[in-house]
Amino acid sequence: MSDSGAATTAPVLEVQGLRKYFPFGRKLFGGHRQRVHAVDGVDFSIAANETLGLVGESGCGKSTVGRTISRLHEPTEGRIFLEGTDITELKAGDLREHRRRMQMIFQDPFSSLDPRMTAGEIVGELLIVHEPLTRAERGDRVAALFERVGLRAAQMRNYPHEFSGGQRQRLGIARALSLNPRLIICDEPVSALDVSIQAQVINLLEDLQNEYGIAYLFIAHDLAVVEHISDRVAVMYLGRIVETAERAELFANPQHPYTESLLAAVPVPDPTRKRSGHVLEGDVPSPVDRPTGCHFHTRCPYAEARCSSEEPTPREVAPGHIVTCHLR
Ligand code: SF4
Repeated sequence: MSDSGAATTAPVLEVQGLRKYFPFGRKLFGGHRQRVHAVDGVDFSIAANETLGLVGESGCGKSTVGRTISRLHEPTEGRIFLEGTDITELKAGDLREHRRRMQMIFQDPFSSLDPRMTAGEIVGELLIVHEPLTRAERGDRVAALFERVGLRAAQMRNYPHEFSGGQRQRLGIARALSLNPRLIICDEPVSALDVSIQAQVINLLEDLQNEYGIAYLFIAHDLAVVEHISDRVAVMYLGRIVETAERAELFANPQHPYTESLLAAVPVPDPTRKRSGHVLEGDVPSPVDRPTGCHFHTRCPYAEARCSSEEPTPREVAPGHIVTCHLR
């Protein structure tokens, strides 16, 4: 979370009506294939020096949002603006220049690091492609990045398997940082780490944000981590954002029944306090065959007759607090 709280400058990232459907299986009658509606009309923006937490259960589409924004997946529909430039349909050559301003950190640092490359080669890899540096200059830059993320320059010669999980995530951060990005998409960056190591990596990300003004899209299922690092939080259910608010507002005053249920499941450190709300039961329905009306109606304790037939529309219930529910 940035020191100044939510930033007010123009967005680094703006996403409008983003959809990502994955066709699968045989064609049905009429020639259409079935589709997984992984992301189904998502809008949000992130300013410099701001962290937007994107939360939801496994399978809600949050990782697909990150991968579609970074163009690892091609969007089915919608627009993605990076510092005002529409990058939605840029081809590889044009996209390359914009990629340097947008980097990604993955959940499993080990699988995202090439085991045959030294740590120094991994961190310097993007510099070879994007920066006209001599070998010595590149070595100096990589050494400085190692020091900045809490590693020793002497470790540049080591291979990924010689690092601990937390150190490997630091390597991933150093590589992401190498081109001075404006946005980093962090996809469950600490969920594979021990709790004490999680805190160190989160602190590092916060320090880097305060130093460089980087915008983060922080994708996670762990609400305690999201509450710690985010300025604003967006809650996803079955491919859609159902609630967005400033962090403190969302955690103190959740309005969507799904958000309420997610928070009810989070342990509160003070045993005399209890969060209200029903604990979620059942699994997320299939994104192929989604419930009609409000997608949450099959699990919602407050569902009314219209919830299964009418889709709710987003409503601003307080400044910056947007909820998609018939009852709010
Ligand atoms: Fe529950 Fe109805 Fe609101 Fe959906 S619209 S969250 S089913 S009350």
